[in-house]
Amino acid sequence: MTASLFDDDAQPNHREPDPGPTPPRRPQVVRVWASSRGLGKCKDCGAPMTWFQVVESGKKMPFDADPTPVATTTADSGRVILELRAEDTHFRTCPAAMSFRRPR
Ligand SMILES: [Zn+2]
Repeated sequence: MTASLFDDDAQPNHREPDPGPTPPRRPQVVRVWASSRGLGKCKDCGAPMTWFQVVESGKKMPFDADPTPVATTTADSGRVILELRAEDTHFRTCPAAMSFRRPR
């Protein structure tokens, strides 16, 4: 009855049940106002950037120039919202990243 409870005869090649194909990871997106677009230049690496105002926080974030939106939606107010990939923020891609460096 309880024999298998203490079965330590584990096979070295024991495998977890196949979880199946991994679901596509939903890209982390940042929702920004399309009309808030402003061109700029990174003061660290000199790359062209595009600033957008983040819908949720109201803060401005720099993205790589001409980021490709994942999706475009329209707010109730009629304003256009772009969904940009969080990894396209210049925070992530700046090779200099002087002021952006994250503590480890
Ligand atoms: Zn930069």
